[in-house]
Amino acid sequence: MNLQKLKRYYTCGAVVQFEEDMYNEFKGHRNLSVEELPPWTQENKNERASRRAVSRSLNAFLNTGKGGTVYLGILDSGVVRGIKMTQFQMDHVVGGLDDLMQRYSPPVTKHRYRVKFVPVFPEDTTEEQRQKRCQKESVDNVDIKDRLRPHQYRSHNFCWCDKDSIAQFNCGLIATDYVVEIKIKPWDPNDVRNQDVACGSLAKVHPYHEDEEGNVYFRRQASLIKSTWPGWYFNNARTTDGDHDIFIEGLGVYNFEKPKDFFYILGSFPIQMYI
Ligand SMILES: [Zn+2]
Repeated sequence: MNLQKLKRYYTCGAVVQFEEDMYNEFKGHRNLSVEELPPWTQENKNERASRRAVSRSLNAFLNTGKGGTVYLGILDSGVVRGIKMTQFQMDHVVGGLDDLMQRYSPPVTKHRYRVKFVPVFPEDTTEEQRQKRCQKESVDNVDIKDRLRPHQYRSHNFCWCDKDSIAQFNCGLIATDYVVEIKIKPWDPNDVRNQDVACGSLAKVHPYHEDEEGNVYFRRQASLIKSTWPGWYFNNARTTDGDHDIFIEGLGVYNFEKPKDFFYILGSFPIQMYI
């Protein structure tokens, strides 16, 4: 009997059993930051841009405090397409995400997110073929030295890893398709790693992060809300252990320019909270 744990995978063309909601967002591309969006997706002045950076959704999952997962390679309709990626391109996604999280204000520490590459197989492959393929690690085929080459983040131009992938394709080597699952973990006020960035044990409220453009997003069911200073925190301050709105009395100051200022005041001001 094979006791090895069966690996998870997706089937190309299948529709996933869940929908976009408070905790799940589908994206057909892997443009993480706003600079990675190709200009042709942003150019039509009369209509909404046809593509939005993944960053907004991650920002919203962080700011809602409840976490959530963005699935790259699943279309809005829930159909699995996958994204072809070599090991170098997967490294690029991981490094690009770390780069993006460091650009948030305040920066997001690594323990608050996780990336998984889940393979996508054609419908006509057998379970045995899939499991066999899952056991093979894509890192086995590449040189560690090549993996240390720096990638070009924050750009819509091809990085060396993309050019390498095209060269491989032209030689008949087809990369595996993946769904990239980027999970933002729910805010845990008791995690000691969170205590530096939280706004004090008094409030137990998770921090709010500005994205790479200085915007703050929140998740509302399957959509995003962009908030502006200074009104957002009154509408959005919530406890991390429930859905109760928090009313903060005694702040009396409305001209916070940045969340940092707000947290500074929240951490040092004698406030009263009603939950
Ligand atoms: Zn790269």
